[in-house]
Amino acid sequence: MRKIHDQVLLSATDLIGHINCGHLTNLDIQVINGTLAKPSRWDPLLEILRERGFRHEQAFIDYLRSSGLDVIAIEGVDNAGASVKETLDAMKAGREIIVQGSLRSGRWAGRADILRRVSTPSVFGGWSYEVTDTKLARETKGGTVLQLCLYSEMLAAMQQHQPDFAHVVAPWTKFVPHSYRMADFAAYFRKAKAAVERVTEGQPGRDTYPEPNDHCDVCRWSDSCDKRKREFPRTFCC
Ligand code: SF4
Repeated sequence: MRKIHDQVLLSATDLIGHINCGHLTNLDIQVINGTLAKPSRWDPLLEILRERGFRHEQAFIDYLRSSGLDVIAIEGVDNAGASVKETLDAMKAGREIIVQGSLRSGRWAGRADILRRVSTPSVFGGWSYEVTDTKLARETKGGTVLQLCLYSEMLAAMQQHQPDFAHVVAPWTKFVPHSYRMADFAAYFRKAKAAVERVTEGQPGRDTYPEPNDHCDVCRWSDSCDKRKREFPRTFCC
């Protein structure tokens, strides 16, 4: 989540964070409004997972290259105008594989692990692109599907064609992707996206409480939430 010229820009992390915990979104709103400091958390286990995720993605890219596909990588990690333009230029040129494609649409931005050319027509000509994400989990989670829906929607705006499918490549699958039909998740995605857009639109941040949930284990706010729960335990009245 970032604020530029009074507009709150959102990413897949914000979408996934919000479906797991409204308190997390509230804390992030306070950070971009300058009323709360950004948390710094170093978790060795998360670092190991991040490193494994990076190695898995690299192995998939190496596999694509060794299969003879034409691969271009978009440098950097941002979604500034230059990286979006570079991605659009690669799509217009019909490159087969675009690594770390920079996607933007409205208030949303993100980097897709892989954009892969398919033979469905779009504004570029007789081809368009679909999103592939590399994930460490054997089972695809709800958050991953939402991320695929978000990237596919931003991609649709850029290529003026809605991708039919998005794909996940998990480890130990010989890089055979698992494909998901985006239309099957459209209603769920629209609802989740509208919810996070609503609460981040000009809101000063609501008064929420850190309710424990599955996301706490990987959340950067866990230390401050634990502290608040210790100092102000939830009290229930009858
Ligand atoms: S640590 Fe848990 S309760 Fe706190 S913001 Fe994160 S997900 Fe929400």
